[in-house]
Amino acid sequence: MTSITHWINGKPWESHDAAADQAAQRYGEVFDPSTGRVAASVAFASPADVDVAVAAAAAAVPGWRDASLTKRTTVLFAFRELIRRSSAELAALISSEHGKVASDAAGEVARGLEVVEFACGIPHLLKGGFSENVSSRIDTYSIRQPLGVVAGITPFNFPAMVPMWMFAVAIACGNTFVLKPSEKDPSASVRIAELWAEAGLPDGVFNVVHGDKVAVDALLRHPDVRAVSFVGSTPIARYVYENASAAGKRVQALGGAKNHMVVLPDADLDLAADAAVSAGFGSAGERCMAISVVVAVDPVGDELAGKIKERVAKLRVGPGADERSEMGPLVTGPHRDKVAGYLDSGVREGATLAIDGRVHPVIGGDPEGFWLGPSVLDHVTPEMSCYTDEIFGPVLCMVRAPAYEPALELINASPYGNGTAIFTNDGGAARQFASHVEVGMIGINVPIPVPMAYYSFGGWKASLFGDTHVYGTEGVHFYTRGKVVTSRWLDPSHGGVNLGFPMNS
Ligand code: NAD
Repeated sequence: MTSITHWINGKPWESHDAAADQAAQRYGEVFDPSTGRVAASVAFASPADVDVAVAAAAAAVPGWRDASLTKRTTVLFAFRELIRRSSAELAALISSEHGKVASDAAGEVARGLEVVEFACGIPHLLKGGFSENVSSRIDTYSIRQPLGVVAGITPFNFPAMVPMWMFAVAIACGNTFVLKPSEKDPSASVRIAELWAEAGLPDGVFNVVHGDKVAVDALLRHPDVRAVSFVGSTPIARYVYENASAAGKRVQALGGAKNHMVVLPDADLDLAADAAVSAGFGSAGERCMAISVVVAVDPVGDELAGKIKERVAKLRVGPGADERSEMGPLVTGPHRDKVAGYLDSGVREGATLAIDGRVHPVIGGDPEGFWLGPSVLDHVTPEMSCYTDEIFGPVLCMVRAPAYEPALELINASPYGNGTAIFTNDGGAARQFASHVEVGMIGINVPIPVPMAYYSFGGWKASLFGDTHVYGTEGVHFYTRGKVVTSRWLDPSHGGVNLGFPMNS
């Protein structure tokens, strides 16, 4: 069985506790979701391990902060090339621990790579302003400087892309980074650390500590960690935001989602059905931008439900490594059971189980794998738990709305505000929707509107705690702080002592 260790100061790192006392070392199990078997064990960091990682990152700050922009971009370009070349290998690694199909995992690597490419333009992004003669012979300029050691805590569902959202920009800005990836699929982060080293990143600039709440709490408390980026579920995002803010850190904490897709009567229903099935069941619904609720505006509900049903019946479920598979297993057995539980509770609470994924065929899968086929609950209403809870699995809920306004009100009443989409051929309706809906990322005839790397990603309400979205220019802003320098060079005509508040003349 593979054993996965931390990566500190440019090399794999065994825990202090492991050396001192084997019994004190904690480990987690990493499963192969398509067989249900344990494939690896991952070391869980103690607070002492986190201290070592933060100390390595802190020691690397002066060298990396002062490295020229040319040096930083040289490393970034080399890293970009190595990730591109290792894309298939990384995708296979992700698929083996997460369960998503390899092509989907390759898509995740490609979208993460776009943020690395954005970060390659850091010299332009860090340019400040300069004003000559703000007062007589006085000039002012503004610069943005790195914060120091920053930490990233990431979820299981994008083990490569979400860390790349964070560390590419943070490192480009001159910070050093400690990543605490999900303990469910930790291998991609270690491979990425190796690629950073190969690209020439100095030791200590990028570190990985594995683990659970113990490691997270140690990072949130550590006085040398200046900022924390978090992506995960809403309760933990809130916890991270509150605790890291209380410890004086800058925080961005992205939480869960319940993304609605509104289908207006004038929409192309085939396009809408394709989109609902792709965005509802891609990655087995384990995406924060997955469509989990289709809101069909009267009278299209029955026709749309029929089209969705036809498409879902044809989906090929099987192991992520099998090229025939379009949808893989869920990440763990308990998660699969929790998701399946919403099919029973939905029916109990009055929904119609239009498609039961528990009886969907699995192609070439081990019976012990964490399988659950695509399911559709129809005639869902807002008080049902399948509607109120983030299910995070292959269960699409259909809600019927009598008109556009109630559909909009439904979305605006949701505690979440990550993504949403509208399908229509009416440009005026789409424009009004984009303007009035209380959600951070909007798709118009686009079901998964993840912004490109040069915009920024983030939701509203309980989908984001903090005021800065990730990557793009907001990411650069998050990982830097501003400084304004006012300078006067010696001049024979200086004015002598003046106790008044500086006035410009
Ligand atoms: P999670 O909240 O369980 O875990 C996220 C991270 O927090 C992991 O690194 C985990 O080890 C750590 N963690 C878990 N419990 C903790 C605790 N009690 N104290 C401190 N740290 C803890 O999320 P997950 O199950 O890994 O990922 C799925 C969730 O992430 C979904 O809710 C999904 O919507 C969300 N997500 C959101 C976005 C977004 O951009 N808004 C993107 C991807 C995933």
